[in-house]
Amino acid sequence: MKKNRRKFSNTILANKFSQFGGRCAYCGTPLTWERKKPNSVEFDHINPISCGGADTEENLLAACHICNYEKNDFRINEFRDYIQRLYKNNIEYPKMWFKFFKQLGVIEVKPWDGVFLFEKEGFTPNTELDGRNISDKNYWERML
Ligand SMILES: [Zn+2]
Repeated sequence: MKKNRRKFSNTILANKFSQFGGRCAYCGTPLTWERKKPNSVEFDHINPISCGGADTEENLLAACHICNYEKNDFRINEFRDYIQRLYKNNIEYPKMWFKFFKQLGVIEVKPWDGVFLFEKEGFTPNTELDGRNISDKNYWERML
């Protein structure tokens, strides 16, 4: 977590960690509570602080490093759109290694269903800051 953020108690973070069975609330990958491991749990602000999201436990989800990194300061639906774009770009313009492993049959690619794990689990976060108009001029800038 960045500076000037609230330091949540281990009890609160442990609850967040176990909320979805120790999995990333976004992609569902299994996480570990141990620090400095490739799959160590991180905590993401559902509504980013930079967008006016609250630094409260209600606004936190356990996330893997990749989801936390890629979500950056996106809101939920922006993150969803970003993933779809990232997918489309990488299918249309695949990196050589990606194409190669696909040809070898090592990588099997199927479209993402657009549903995060926390949604599959029936959790509805407060996203009142979410659902911004797609024509918002900052929106596409933030998508780049
Ligand atoms: Zn994840």
